[in-house]
Amino acid sequence: MRLCSVCSLAEEHPGITLDGEGVCNLCRLDIVGDLLHNFTYTNQVYEEFTRSGPDPHRDHDCLFMYSGGKDSTYMLDKFVNEYGKRVVSYTFDVPFESAHAAQNIRLAQEKIPAKFVLDSDDEGIKSMMREVFNRPAPKKPGKYLDEKLPCVSCRTFFVIRAILYAYRHRIPYIALCADPQQILTMESDAREVVRSFYRTFGERLTDELFRDEIEDVLFAEDDEIPKIVFPFIAMRYDYDPDRIVAELKAKGLYESSPLETHCTLFPLLNYYSFKHWGCMFYKLNAASHQRSTARDRDFDRSTFSIKFPRAANIVDIENRMREVVLQIAAGEGDREQHERELVAVFRELDATEEGARFVARSFLDMRSVAADLGVRL
Ligand SMILES: [Zn+2]
Repeated sequence: MRLCSVCSLAEEHPGITLDGEGVCNLCRLDIVGDLLHNFTYTNQVYEEFTRSGPDPHRDHDCLFMYSGGKDSTYMLDKFVNEYGKRVVSYTFDVPFESAHAAQNIRLAQEKIPAKFVLDSDDEGIKSMMREVFNRPAPKKPGKYLDEKLPCVSCRTFFVIRAILYAYRHRIPYIALCADPQQILTMESDAREVVRSFYRTFGERLTDELFRDEIEDVLFAEDDEIPKIVFPFIAMRYDYDPDRIVAELKAKGLYESSPLETHCTLFPLLNYYSFKHWGCMFYKLNAASHQRSTARDRDFDRSTFSIKFPRAANIVDIENRMREVVLQIAAGEGDREQHERELVAVFRELDATEEGARFVARSFLDMRSVAADLGVRL
């Protein structure tokens, strides 16, 4: 198996090709050409949105997808209290998240004068997840982000719920605080988001999950369809999580908790990417970290979602994780030994002893989480 000499991505990784010198297309930035169109359009829509004044024929300027995390709290506050936008704050309660959305939005509701909407569809999103995990093996070589399909599908599911809400209430824009990696692969065109869901899941499941309303969006006039904007586009070069947290704390909008919200499906997400693509779930993030440190060894880069220490041996960590994850999924091996190995791996990924043990235990419970969801391992 050939690995990229800069970032260690394998040649078999979905969407990756290696050239004669053993350097991958991400390191050669070939993919940027494909993504540039998306990026230019995204910038344009965002500028149009920030410039536009309130439309007297509509009650709201935008639907803001609010997760309760620090990034979206920071932006929601700016949209309402600084830019003066008339905002519907839309939160989808993802049943796989450890802390529930209602807890996260309490502080914001006290200090930010927006209309708050809390949406959920536990049955729908679970049946989609069952479908993702229980499908036959995906076709090789696959495309960019295929190893993250369950995670990407979950997000697409609630973005479509938001599109339908905005369409129904004639809200012209949807603001989405995705990180740069997500922004570059997320369609800004709401109709394309819906089409790509159809392509991935087919007509039967799509109609079952979203009923007739989704067809209305597909065939609506362009100006009836909400446009998606990505507020972090404007600040992508100076994204600074520490400064965001400090500002939020000063405004009384953030309480740090010892256990941040996390996805209870994280072990299953790793199982999926190991089983079908031979890589860990965060492989692209790890590779992008390795790429940036290879380019500039003094530059500590923030990858938004996870930190990789400079000394970590990603290839070795991934091999050890693969072995344990696949053993746990198969119901083989020794539980204590699995726990020891996983704790060691997460410690090398900069987790605290307590944090590493917490995540390791969640991996040990993978089989019962899968059984509850109806996922066959
Ligand atoms: Zn590379």
